[in-house]
Amino acid sequence: MGLVETEAIVLRTYNLSEADKIVVCLTHCCGIIRGVANGARRLKSRFGAALEPFTVVTLDYFEKDGRELVSIKQAEIQRSYFSLTQTAEMVGWMAYLSELIMDFAPPHEPNKNLFRLVSGTLEAVAQNQHRATAIKRYFEVWLLKLSGFMPETRACTSCRKHFDATEKSYTNAENKLQCSACSNAVGVVLSACTRTLLRAVLTRSPQEFAHQWPDFEEEARTEAVSLTGRLIESALERSPRVSEDFLAHTGVHTLT
Ligand SMILES: [Zn+2]
Repeated sequence: MGLVETEAIVLRTYNLSEADKIVVCLTHCCGIIRGVANGARRLKSRFGAALEPFTVVTLDYFEKDGRELVSIKQAEIQRSYFSLTQTAEMVGWMAYLSELIMDFAPPHEPNKNLFRLVSGTLEAVAQNQHRATAIKRYFEVWLLKLSGFMPETRACTSCRKHFDATEKSYTNAENKLQCSACSNAVGVVLSACTRTLLRAVLTRSPQEFAHQWPDFEEEARTEAVSLTGRLIESALERSPRVSEDFLAHTGVHTLT
């Protein structure tokens, strides 16, 4: 409680009144926070451009017992990724990312690994915008992993036998992987190359994965997207608000 200083990533802002804004941030120390920035809508605001979405800031805020909204005192820019939102594709990409973060991260719950993942993802996409799709896939897999929703991909969930390098696996109703004997070859197929792709996410940096992305077979990319889509829906018990379908319907096409 009291005054808090932390590194934070601005995810979204809403107009509160003629002069003020509500700001949603992912903070290093306390997870998601929502705060009021008094005067942030004024032309000569002391916040300047610091509260634009996807700005990494040093944030000072005041917290009061029992209040959901904190009071934002100061925000100093460390690094801004707002300039990435120059194209419709990237606006959609960023909206999807922020929506997933807000969906998966409970308020006021510190998660330093998630903070590192989001910072790393933004830096990776800033350096490799043409690989934004690969980096989105990387982010989804890690978000699921950090939230405890990513199934084990090395071994069958039933008999614990490790899959060999070419063996097909099958996902059961809970999206866990089974070998062909345990599943009777029933379930959505997850091929060996898809498991390799998923393992690559978990063992490489986002930049390394983005560079490797074109080398994966189409089958692996499609199966991985389908699996992460099912896992996200199952974790949220609904589709993400900013879904791939939504992006398609608004004319924002998936980057390749
Ligand atoms: Zn088995």
